[in-house]
Amino acid sequence: MEAKKSVVVLSGGMDSCVCAALAVRDFGAENVAALHVSYGQRTEAREQQAFREICDRLGIEQRLLVRNQALAQIGGSALTDSDFAVPAAGTEIGQQIPITYVPFRNAHFLSVAVSWAEVIGAEKIYIGAVEQDSSGYPDCRPEYYEAFNRVIRAGTKAGRIGIVTPLIAMRKAEIVALGLRLGAPFELTWSCYSGQSRACGVCESCVLRLRAFAAAGLQDPIPYQDQVRAAGEAEPEPE
Ligand SMILES: [Zn+2]
Repeated sequence: MEAKKSVVVLSGGMDSCVCAALAVRDFGAENVAALHVSYGQRTEAREQQAFREICDRLGIEQRLLVRNQALAQIGGSALTDSDFAVPAAGTEIGQQIPITYVPFRNAHFLSVAVSWAEVIGAEKIYIGAVEQDSSGYPDCRPEYYEAFNRVIRAGTKAGRIGIVTPLIAMRKAEIVALGLRLGAPFELTWSCYSGQSRACGVCESCVLRLRAFAAAGLQDPIPYQDQVRAAGEAEPEPE
């Protein structure tokens, strides 16, 4: 059944930006509603800025910004708990679940998105989860979204809302290429876990992003604290 309206979960990072551009292509900007959930993460204010600027550029007017106090208070992640430092990316990204994992975070995001979708009559929820070239967070796996769709069908009045994960099987370089084709404003995005004026270039999120741009043969348009070091770390891995 053709959906008329969609909600996009837009953190402000490169993947969610491409996802928002896809939703706009598929539904038209007037039928896309963008959600940002902050949760006490270090880069909360910078992400919100990216969210607003991306929405402005893509013409998305319907917006919801909420703060999840539960995740902020629970902590347990280097993103939300100042007792842990945001680590520099290791050599084996994705082999173990890193300390930047926020416990069951995407379920909180999706729950807000589903509630909002029910109220505004949206039938699709776009989320830019990526399984490959990622940190190996368990809430970025396809089976998780399949299970969540069953929860939505069982637990909503309408029962027709579905999550779509258009990027989940894509490599990061493919996401960059897709974003370029769609005119996704990468220069407005923010992916870094720790920096707010310049991206650090060394956290896992920065490294994955820099690798993606390097593998796509492109320069990442956002400013990095240590461009030389960042570029050195951004060498694409041999396939
Ligand atoms: Zn960073």
